[in-house]
Amino acid sequence: MSKREARKDGKQNPQSGHLDALVTAARTAREHAHAPFSNFRVGAAVRAKSGRIFSGCNVENATYSLTLCAERVAIFKAISEGERGFDAVAVVADTDTLTPPCGSCRQILWEFCGDAEVVLANLKGKIERYRMSDLLPKPFDQSFL
Ligand SMILES: [Zn+2]
Repeated sequence: MSKREARKDGKQNPQSGHLDALVTAARTAREHAHAPFSNFRVGAAVRAKSGRIFSGCNVENATYSLTLCAERVAIFKAISEGERGFDAVAVVADTDTLTPPCGSCRQILWEFCGDAEVVLANLKGKIERYRMSDLLPKPFDQSFL
């Protein structure tokens, strides 16, 4: 199986069925985004190896710099509830070109999820699949400490 399985026709890849719940959780979380400044609403979800799914939305702040991305909200929720070890992440935004995690989120996701599967999706059903190692090919982590 290829690492990347993007479909340009906007239809979901038939092999992505096991990720449907994750994408749905991210899409639902997106509806709760607090984005009054950018109006750029993002939802994310992480799947723990236990099977539990944790979702998050972006939460903006008037200072801008205190804004937190959906991916980090999702992973921090999971960590705060005692979960460790994750095998998949989904990110959903309303864009034609699918929205990947920002640099800060890639670092955080690598630290907690390692080389997990990353699913990018939009509201039209377009989906792309990556590995964290595709998005962050030479990560800094605890192995350097
Ligand atoms: Zn981010």
